[in-house]
Amino acid sequence: MPHSLSALHLSEAGWPRARAGATLTIDLDAIRANYRTVCALAAGAECAAVVKADAYGLGAARVAPMLERAGARTFFVAHIDEGIALRPHVAPTSRIFVLHGPLAGAEADCVRHDLVPVLNSVEQIGAWRALAHELGRALPAAVQFDTGMSRFGLSEQDLDRIDADPAGWRGIDRCLVMSHLACADDPSDPASAHQRERLLAMCTRLPARPLSLAASSGIFLGPEFHFDLVRPGAALYGVAPNATAPNPMRPVVRLQARILQTRTVGPTDGVGYGLTYRPAGTRRIATIAAGYADGIMRRVAHDGRAWLGAQSLPIVGRISMDSMAVDITDAPEPLTAPGAMLDLLGPQHGVDEVARAAGTIGYEILTSLGHRYHRAYVADGVALS
Ligand SMILES: *Cc1c(COP(=O)(O)O)cnc(C)c1O
Repeated sequence: MPHSLSALHLSEAGWPRARAGATLTIDLDAIRANYRTVCALAAGAECAAVVKADAYGLGAARVAPMLERAGARTFFVAHIDEGIALRPHVAPTSRIFVLHGPLAGAEADCVRHDLVPVLNSVEQIGAWRALAHELGRALPAAVQFDTGMSRFGLSEQDLDRIDADPAGWRGIDRCLVMSHLACADDPSDPASAHQRERLLAMCTRLPARPLSLAASSGIFLGPEFHFDLVRPGAALYGVAPNATAPNPMRPVVRLQARILQTRTVGPTDGVGYGLTYRPAGTRRIATIAAGYADGIMRRVAHDGRAWLGAQSLPIVGRISMDSMAVDITDAPEPLTAPGAMLDLLGPQHGVDEVARAAGTIGYEILTSLGHRYHRAYVADGVALS
């Protein structure tokens, strides 16, 4: 265990450390610090937390309680079943919004599990209204407007249809009106301001309600995008909110894979499937215990690196399902014997750098992380159950 982690409280999950090929360390203190950074930026707005996709692969059951300790009272998931799984891990008074809303017929499950749907279509509004009628009470819901991304939410024409219906919004307690920005990671893109204008124009058709537009990147566009509630996800987990500016978020994950075997290869040898790597001279190669089934993108093979402390070592040949090869020629031999660990994500290169090498985004690196790790949760001085 690195010295810097040894003083901290560690809570463990996944496979036992001694048997697992790789260890994923998730720094809950960094998540809490990132939450506070975002809250400070959006002071005046409520700061919710997006924990869909199992908190971007990091474990919603561990992450959400930490965010709640930091002050979060509103959570967003994508699916009802994510909400059902999250419910016991947050306070009964905390709100859980379900971004997709209910599939037809699943409305009562939202009520049963105390989840608030985001209603995205005229059909979802009709079904929620019918359930409210049946139960004889108003039911809370968020309503999403499509302000230009063409993904989820009501259009102006949909609002016309609802207005034309005598039942309209009857029985629906609209506790939040929201929309989502398509281009917020590029502050120079005029699309964000257009979407904001369109949201305000659509809102004139309803009585005033708390408004929400910004996810991580949108929060960094400035206070005029914050409204009443912000919905950060990726920034909490250390992903850079803006591709061009320095990343203000603290890194959250470290992934270390164990060296299983080492060998010396020469110019007559090839390495890995397809023998695509052929050394020019004598090289030392380590086979390490992480592959594409663990979320290591096959594409990183072209430009990928593993790290021994501050020393960067090239990944060579194709990534296998369970392993890959690293050229350890330039590393000290005693530190690269079988059993030693190399960093794949860590202090030297975070999710955004690895994403660049793989031609993707930090979000995909996080949500691709596999389930065959030992998971260590770091939380200084906080007793985790
Ligand atoms: C995923 C999502 C978020 C969080 O986005 P980040 O970019 O990860 O902060 C917020 N709102 C909606 C509607 C989302 O789908």
